Amino acid sequence: MKDTGKADLRGKLESLAQDMGATYFGIADLAPARQSISEQGGEFLTQFPRAVSHGFVLADGTVNTLVHHKSIAALSNYWYYVYQIVNPRIDSISLTLAQSLGEAGFQAFVVPSSQTVDKTKLTGVFSHKLAAHLAGLGWIGKSALLITPKYGPRVRWATVLTDAPLETGTPMDEMCRDCDACVKACPAHAFTGQAFDKPRSRSEIFAAEACDGYLSKRETLRRACGMCVYICPFGRNK
Ligand code: SF4
Ligand code: SF4
Repeated sequence: MKDTGKADLRGKLESLAQDMGATYFGIADLAPARQSISEQGGEFLTQFPRAVSHGFVLADGTVNTLVHHKSIAALSNYWYYVYQIVNPRIDSISLTLAQSLGEAGFQAFVVPSSQTVDKTKLTGVFSHKLAAHLAGLGWIGKSALLITPKYGPRVRWATVLTDAPLETGTPMDEMCRDCDACVKACPAHAFTGQAFDKPRSRSEIFAAEACDGYLSKRETLRRACGMCVYICPFGRNK
């Protein structure tokens, strides 16, 4: 039997996520993005009207080493930290949330923290950044990353899609304004400088193939860069 206590279920999910280390938690109404969700991952995803978004804040001491973008030691350490240490943790949070939604009688679809389905666009089945934005946790910056007011892009996001009728957040306005630090810092010139202040496709602000081409030349550096994460004043200057 379904648990109809929306506030109770939302509070339970938030507590579970926070107890496991999430700093950010929110619920997104996916209705406004139905078409782009279908185009990216498939029509089957539109059966889920809500997304549970959670974010884990990265350690400054590790992110700040990205400024040493020619150091194999710095980039390897960053790669292991993000993909081998943080990602399993946030996937584990998603699994726990999905289990709780299931126990309450709802469907849950876990979106893996890091997964590439389209190798040209460098996209997964569903955009974690879209869910976090619609949940009211930040805005999509000129770097095409999710920017939070306090930690900037220094957050790893994960998502659980669900049919639970949870109360949703309000999307945050774009706050990049005159800043273009990421546009100037990107060694691949992958950003057009367009703000995401009105509905735009990702390709209008970010040339994924330029980033991928640059990273391909850095096999010995773990295909890592991350200057767009390091340079953003939101998070770096807190
Ligand atoms: S990872 Fe590096 S090359 Fe790719 S978009 Fe960010 S700054 Fe540009
Ligand atoms: S570096 Fe500046 S322009 Fe780029 S995402 Fe951050 S605030 Fe926006």
